Amino acid sequence: YDRLEGVIWYDGKLVPWSDANMHVLSHGLHYASCVFEGERAYDGQIFKSQEHAERLKRSANVLDFDIPYSAAEIVAAKKLVVDKNGKKNAYVRPVAWRGSEMMGVSAQDNQIHLAIASWEWPSYFDPAQRLKGIRLDLADYRRPDPKTAPSTAKAAGLYMICTISKHRAERKGYADAMMLDWEGRVAECTGANIFFVKDGKIHTPIADCFLDGITRQTVIALARQRGIEVIERRIMPYELDEMSECFITGSAAEVTAVAEIAQWNFNPGGITKQLMEDYTAEVQPKAAAA
Ligand code: PMP
Repeated sequence: YDRLEGVIWYDGKLVPWSDANMHVLSHGLHYASCVFEGERAYDGQIFKSQEHAERLKRSANVLDFDIPYSAAEIVAAKKLVVDKNGKKNAYVRPVAWRGSEMMGVSAQDNQIHLAIASWEWPSYFDPAQRLKGIRLDLADYRRPDPKTAPSTAKAAGLYMICTISKHRAERKGYADAMMLDWEGRVAECTGANIFFVKDGKIHTPIADCFLDGITRQTVIALARQRGIEVIERRIMPYELDEMSECFITGSAAEVTAVAEIAQWNFNPGGITKQLMEDYTAEVQPKAAAA
């Protein structure tokens, strides 16, 4: 992204990109009391902006803090940033964190900050690879038990194992890594949810220890509208032998086909292609009802 361009909304004000700094003694940096969102604007309109704002506030509550802005104020602020930055197709990144008043595990009275940035980020994965299918490694780290980590929050701390896993995968030539969960079941990718196709039906893990993505929910609804059965269940890695297609979903990844996961191979196309098209149509701004 263009680092020095445009503005960032920071605690209620628009500031130039290069002035949007925080203190080195921020609790969010040291202790990961930080939550964020990842969203996309299509033709100037942010897809499911309200849902993302509500999730951001919920994530903060899970980390025991309150963002001092309403969901409606966050929605308005995001729109302002996208409009001011002048890119109609943009990635939007709200981030909220505990400030620097107290430095220690406890930070009861620290100020809560909110910043919102946007930048051009055309495709998370190489567009040519999106239909051909990307290659995934199998991560060493597993998604933690929900009793071990606040897995329903989109919290910065949960991404530590994601970044390590993605880096290891990239070094081996893979685009990303699939993670199992604490019980050894298939979970998700480092920044996207995962789906499989078997005998014309979609199978996807139950989101009980990872983010139930807004894209995941959208794609499940789109599939059901097409009359495709979607089964949410526990999926063990050995079952991948029988899956014909695989795809991942996320605000950044959108719908991306997977050709390979470690020793497993899939045939991109069919239902994946249909849902890629349906998702592309779904995210386009709808004309206001007459
Ligand atoms: N899982 C993880 C770990 C993610 O980072 C994301 C992206 N936010 C998702 C799933 C998908 O969530 P969404 O569809 O809401 O972007």
